[in-house]
Amino acid sequence: MQDNKFLGDCLAVVCNLSEQEQIDNNLTSSDVLIYIKFGKKLKIKGKDIDFKHLIDRSYFKQSKPILLRIGCECALGVFGDSHCDCEYQRIASLSYINDNGQGIYIHIPQEAQGRGVFYKAKELCLQVSGHDPEGRYVGEKSLYDAANYLLGHEQVDIRKYGFLNNIFTDLHLNSIEYVLITDSIKKADTVKDITNVKVIGHFKFDKEMTKHNISAYLDKIYSNDHKLDDKDIVKLIEFINVVEDLPERAKMMLVKLDQGLKNGRDFHVNTKLLRLLSVAAKRHLQAHMI
Ligand SMILES: [Zn+2]
Repeated sequence: MQDNKFLGDCLAVVCNLSEQEQIDNNLTSSDVLIYIKFGKKLKIKGKDIDFKHLIDRSYFKQSKPILLRIGCECALGVFGDSHCDCEYQRIASLSYINDNGQGIYIHIPQEAQGRGVFYKAKELCLQVSGHDPEGRYVGEKSLYDAANYLLGHEQVDIRKYGFLNNIFTDLHLNSIEYVLITDSIKKADTVKDITNVKVIGHFKFDKEMTKHNISAYLDKIYSNDHKLDDKDIVKLIEFINVVEDLPERAKMMLVKLDQGLKNGRDFHVNTKLLRLLSVAAKRHLQAHMI
């Protein structure tokens, strides 16, 4: 691919998985899209291609890390939904890879953590309007409370990464060491543990907080996979102190945080900082009555 908007010149590979692989890995389609930006120039014009040996590690520069992003499909994020930051993460990952000069982006059809877009719609309905799939009003819920409502104690995330073994082996990418782009330590560990992909480190997104993505940050207070670290909570406090007026959903979540703290709920993040966040939130909510 030449002059790709995000990666410039890169190799685009589409892997078509078998029906069984699709079922075994909770994939919503059989096609996995892979973009590879090599550190060195790849000349394949005007000659026969041996696909088996097309990807050679010598095309990567040894002096720089090889970044790897394993990104999941998110149809609603692509259309600008503010309930997640998938779209931001997709574009940011591609620009990290481009700026670094080399890396791989894998786009996996695992909408809504493997549960599909229909599940996502039900979850969003509970978050936005507080209605369950039968149309009953049960009150607006946070992302994690909505998931609990729909699934009980079943784990939301049913993504599997085993199929990556075959892809990395087939494409001769399994002897390379990668730095994974992810906010989730759990994801980095999972990829390391259950695949033959060699992950030697990971780094988190350095994103600016905005009115459009603050709800995605607040959701992470309740998440088990994408834990907010102290830096994120400080960022939230600073943002809430200066922002003009927060979106209604973010306000609602801050009210719930306050209730959770009062009820002694353990959020598994720095409680001292959460209390400071709650103080900043109260000040904001008083100034902008909901
Ligand atoms: Zn998303």
